[in-house]
Amino acid sequence: MKKIQMVDLVSQLEPIKNEILSSFEQILEEASFINGPQVRKFQADLEAYMGVKHVIPCANGTDALQIAMMGLGLQPGDEVITADFTFAATVEVIALLGLTPVLVDVDPRTFVIDVEAVEKAITPKTKAIVPVHLFGQSAPMDEINALAKKHNLYVIEDNAQGIGTHYIDANHKKHKAGTIGDVSATSFFPSKNLGAYGDGGALMTNNDELAHTLRGIVNHGMYERYHHDVVGVNSRLDSLQAAVLAAKLPHLDGYNAKRRQAAIQYNRYFQNNPYLITPLTVSGCEGICEQCACHVFHQYTLRVKDGKRDGLAEHLKAMQIPFGIYYPIPLHRQKAYVDARYKEEDFSVTNQLVEEVISLPMHSELEDDQIEFIAKTVLDYINQT
Ligand SMILES: *Cc1c(COP(=O)(O)O)cnc(C)c1O
Repeated sequence: MKKIQMVDLVSQLEPIKNEILSSFEQILEEASFINGPQVRKFQADLEAYMGVKHVIPCANGTDALQIAMMGLGLQPGDEVITADFTFAATVEVIALLGLTPVLVDVDPRTFVIDVEAVEKAITPKTKAIVPVHLFGQSAPMDEINALAKKHNLYVIEDNAQGIGTHYIDANHKKHKAGTIGDVSATSFFPSKNLGAYGDGGALMTNNDELAHTLRGIVNHGMYERYHHDVVGVNSRLDSLQAAVLAAKLPHLDGYNAKRRQAAIQYNRYFQNNPYLITPLTVSGCEGICEQCACHVFHQYTLRVKDGKRDGLAEHLKAMQIPFGIYYPIPLHRQKAYVDARYKEEDFSVTNQLVEEVISLPMHSELEDDQIEFIAKTVLDYINQT
């Protein structure tokens, strides 16, 4: 059996290695490191793949979120609602811009933002909602967009973990996550479903005017060279990363299909165990698009009942099986983001999830014998304690 890893980027490289090396060689010879033709090619390829009018490449996913909020003109004091159970980048940029983060609880079945909790948190100061397509599962965008429309709010999708996933709306129409709100942000961090060999990110929108604003902000607020019309940042995707991403993009659906197959195999081992809750895939996809994914399993995250999670983690460590606890502390309890307005009882789901969740190795190169070994090791511990 091959060594088990949380992600296996070395095996994934093999089939695309020559293509990437020859692009690298070309970039070195042209010395076109910033804004080279590879960046424009990747941008156009990604626009076609996503079916979105505008992709604005940038330096990383955190910047993409920040630039989205800048581009929408959010002002200090504006409240932005997001999930308590997510990676800190989402709330970090809200705070950094002097906006007021308002954290709300999540749905225990899907781990994504709880729409009722969002509705309760809306005040006259609320300006935007940031749903996170956590672990590769789309947030309930119909309900979120309806709330946004009713209260005149922007919707910024954090699609760092959801690239390639779909959302089926109430009319059974299929949308790519990241193309449904006003603007979305994604990340090409190496371990993401579409990963560069360094940092990278992108914004997406169908709004021409917003796209124009964003393209200026990523480049020092310049729309014409040395004319700085708005306050911007320096956030560029470099040509080497764009070449890696352009080589991987045609494989993204294949990578995601393999992740989904691995998840289905894990589910077969775990689904009837009374101590384990397997990740729910929102129904609606099955009949509509057999091969499409409504979940791209950026993470395969189990909930472990009866306080067995930490013991299981120890056991996996002893058996040299990597795992992740995403996330161990709710954002509302992180020192940087504590707020007197938060009441513990409003975060009962997140508070429970941080005690129960464990993410197993998940990537496009997992092999059957590895999955079997991981699953049996989990079950051995769960059934014997
Ligand atoms: C990875 C991630 C980000 C940040 O992306 P970077 O490219 O690492 O800056 C933001 N939000 C979520 C949910 C993420 O998983």
